[in-house]
Amino acid sequence: MTLTGQMFLAGDRVLGSGGEVHATDPRTGATLEPAYRYGTAADVDRAATAAGQAFRTFRRTDPKVRAEFLDAIADKLTALTEQVVERVQAETGIAEARVRGELARTTNQLRLFAGVVRDGSHTGVRIEPALPERTPLPRPDLRQRKVPIGPVAVFGASNFPLAFSVAGGDTASALAAGCPVVVKAHSSHPGTSELVAGAIAEAVAEHGLPAGVFSMLYGEGREVGTALVAHPAIAAVGFTGSRSGGTALVAVANARPRPIPVYAEMSSINPVVLLPGALAERGSAIGAAFVGSLTMGVGQLCTNPGLVFAVESAGLQDFLEGAGAAVRESAAAPMLSATICSAYDRGVQALRENPAVEEVATGLDDESISARGVTHLFTTTGEAFLADESLSAEVFGASSLVVRVPDAALLPELLERLEGQLTATVHLAEQDVPAAEELLPVLEEKVGRIVVNGWPTGVDVGAAIVHGGPFPATSDGRSTSVGTLAIDRFLRPVAYQDVPAALLPAEVRGE
Ligand code: NAP
Repeated sequence: MTLTGQMFLAGDRVLGSGGEVHATDPRTGATLEPAYRYGTAADVDRAATAAGQAFRTFRRTDPKVRAEFLDAIADKLTALTEQVVERVQAETGIAEARVRGELARTTNQLRLFAGVVRDGSHTGVRIEPALPERTPLPRPDLRQRKVPIGPVAVFGASNFPLAFSVAGGDTASALAAGCPVVVKAHSSHPGTSELVAGAIAEAVAEHGLPAGVFSMLYGEGREVGTALVAHPAIAAVGFTGSRSGGTALVAVANARPRPIPVYAEMSSINPVVLLPGALAERGSAIGAAFVGSLTMGVGQLCTNPGLVFAVESAGLQDFLEGAGAAVRESAAAPMLSATICSAYDRGVQALRENPAVEEVATGLDDESISARGVTHLFTTTGEAFLADESLSAEVFGASSLVVRVPDAALLPELLERLEGQLTATVHLAEQDVPAAEELLPVLEEKVGRIVVNGWPTGVDVGAAIVHGGPFPATSDGRSTSVGTLAIDRFLRPVAYQDVPAALLPAEVRGE
């Protein structure tokens, strides 16, 4: 497929008339062709209005057709593998093996949601037949099912240009639910976005679906993104990215005459708790494995373990030595963009300048890489952590802070102080089980996923996963952006009371 720099507006390819952006290769700083022109408010209106019109037909498509449509997008993306892999690497600097893995995850997600639509259980049918003899009042016949909410605006993230972008989890779950999608493409990977959008647009046309089922615009978040969320035809928003971007869009959605839900996945530092038994048993091995998780994706994963609470013990020294050695051997690697790299460097600098923080180890540098991330490991005391809120700020990249906790009994207080998180991880041995029992209720209130003796990076996409959590991990902790439950965000329950069988939707007829 030839890249053109054009948007996808309800089946038409349109060159924007707004500002221009080029992707940059973060490995070399080179500018990539072609130029991408931003859309305008008129383009937003065209895409959102077409999505609103398409909704009436698309929401009633046969689930079999919707499932085949999702499978077809997956097939088309697979057919584009080599071109996608090359462009993603050029636009993001992500290593080839990870890009291939992310593409497989993206197509698997689309197929998973095709399976959800075929199975039909997401419609959550409940039937309570009439009880005319019930006293003191008869019960009416009540039947419930979930229906799609309406057109969804999707904002992709820079750190997952495939799995959390144009055909990522938000798009797959919204289309599976029966909601048209309008994507505001991320400005740092426009070429990848064009390739993926081309696959979706082709699948829309080949399945005879209304063209407004899918559109994708380029543009700045503050203009095009804001106009999209404010558009009356948009009924919900799926977002992955920064806390500032997510909260800005929540404010836009709430200020509309008809407010709409925003499911924004934003900021998380994913605390890891190291209990003394685990440290004594395998402190050094935990340290080495921890750095494997810390450096995955150059630390630019939303589940990156940015904070460690380690209970003072002999094993803690083993942990710091094991982790320190692994950090010192870790290679510098390209970060996603020069902007993300400078934000990371500023965060690291702030920790270095903090008198209560000590640097344990620094990774290898490589000046040949333009926007590079170097690994850093710091320590501080529990007392300093409690006294200084800045120590729990997210540093997006491969930097982590180990808080030395004098006594396991202080852990609940330290964890209480944290904001909402996507994950928390506990390393324990048999003797730590009573301490862990005290922690679990605290963690349940703080996070969406609790991991024991493993690592938070690497999210399994399935039925039981939760990738969500209380604010600011997400703007709405009642759901997940990964796994089959994500479809619920784009559905709304409707009850049918005493509706004659001939008028009832097939699912609730109870046949
Ligand atoms: P981002 O900058 O928030 O961008 C995500 C999308 O939202 C882009 O399409 C962006 O458009 C749009 N946007 C940003 N600010 C907006 C605003 N005020 N109003 C309307 N739309 C807005 O997220 P990112 O590029 O994925 O990550 C950048 C930063 O997010 C990182 O440096 C990191 O600190 C943080 N972060 C991200 C994640 C994640 O999972 N992605 C996790 C942890 C932390 P434009 O950029 O085109 O304006």
